[in-house]
Amino acid sequence: MQPLDADQIRASFVNCSRGEAKSVTIPAGVPWAARDFLGWRDPKAPARAYLVVPYRDEIVGLSLRAAPPPSSRLRSNMCGFCATTHALSDVTLFTGRRAGKLGREGNTLGTYVCSNLSCSAYVRGELKPDVPQPKETLSIDDRVARLEDKVQRFVARILESR
Ligand SMILES: [Zn+2]
Repeated sequence: MQPLDADQIRASFVNCSRGEAKSVTIPAGVPWAARDFLGWRDPKAPARAYLVVPYRDEIVGLSLRAAPPPSSRLRSNMCGFCATTHALSDVTLFTGRRAGKLGREGNTLGTYVCSNLSCSAYVRGELKPDVPQPKETLSIDDRVARLEDKVQRFVARILESR
């Protein structure tokens, strides 16, 4: 994705207050060229997470809430964005308020995603998950395309009633 500065990131949020957007901790040292979206947990408030996604002709920022980690570590789960399989503790349910009318009515949308939101790094092999992966026949380019498609669909659903 194209590099963004802090002002662009703060201005991109569609589902939180101006006040929250102002208080977001902006990540540093992002390898933009190898990222399909910007995703991070707020180091000062780990239950807060953010996605900043190039979407059609705009940049869309989403404020998300991370569900507490489950107590069982026995099962595994798959990331809904990048299809990486993780131990249950490394996949988190992230939920965002929907933009516009649905959001005002209290409507939210959730998805299970890599807890560190580092899907772009997993699909490129920069990060290795802790558990064995099912055999993956897709090339890295195809995995990136699949990741982008899943993220676009999530953003589209958040924006549905904007
Ligand atoms: Zn992922």
